[in-house]
Amino acid sequence: MSAITMRALTKVYPNGVRALDALDLEITDGEFFALLGPSGCGKTTLLRTIAGLELASGGSVHIGDRAVTQLPPGKRDVAMVFQDYALFPHMTVRENIAYPLRIKKVDRRARGEKAAETADELGLSALLDRRPGQLSGGQQQRVALARAMACHPQVFLLDEPLSNLDARLRLEARTFLKRLQRELGVTTVFVTHDQAEALALADRIAVMEGGRIRQVGTPTEVFRRP
Ligand code: ADP
Ligand code: ADP
Repeated sequence: MSAITMRALTKVYPNGVRALDALDLEITDGEFFALLGPSGCGKTTLLRTIAGLELASGGSVHIGDRAVTQLPPGKRDVAMVFQDYALFPHMTVRENIAYPLRIKKVDRRARGEKAAETADELGLSALLDRRPGQLSGGQQQRVALARAMACHPQVFLLDEPLSNLDARLRLEARTFLKRLQRELGVTTVFVTHDQAEALALADRIAVMEGGRIRQVGTPTEVFRRP
């Protein structure tokens, strides 16, 4: 069970900014869910709170029937891909992909095999010994996805992972993400400020504003003309 439930979720940063304001949201198991909204409305904070990277100031986040705050980071079945990919520059592609497995204490040989297998699925086999600085933007983005996938997470959190790609690579990446979700049944939460992207990918869309959900529904419901 990997549905995500947020109840009265509030995040106030130490500087007093209320980034999430008693937000309620339910994301269904296996859903491709897009979070849309202007810069500063709280999208990144919401993802980081689901991932357990930010502590909530109030309310709760559950993944299945477990509160994320009760699980230590290594036990959370959640993977997050950031806007800037955040690859380790001094590590090879192989080491980058295997890194989360190292955190999970998977043994060395199994890590190497899993990294190679995941790289193969993403068409990265020829690049395993390169470092991020020797890759194109699109290749770096796929390495970031591979690193997130290697653990077979139940929940996949994506923070504008396509925003640095050109139009062609973006289209390729969209097709790829959709295939992942269909084939692996991973619950995916995708942050974007691009309506077309949300329309192309999402089963449902939530529009955020000022730390709250303003509207939630299927793409047709959300973009229906009044
Ligand atoms: P979005 O992802 O929609 O652009 P964010 O979640 O990044 O929104 O930010 C929501 C609000 O919280 C903004 O006003 C932002 O400036 C503020 N904020 C984000 N991160 C921090 C932080 N670490 N400390 C203080 N304020 C922050
Ligand atoms: P986003 O793409 O989500 O809008 P930002 O550029 O707003 O991201 O924020 C980049 C980083 O700066 C994030 O780690 C965020 O948490 C942090 N941040 C954003 N706003 C503030 C703030 N007012 N005070 C401190 N940190 C902030």
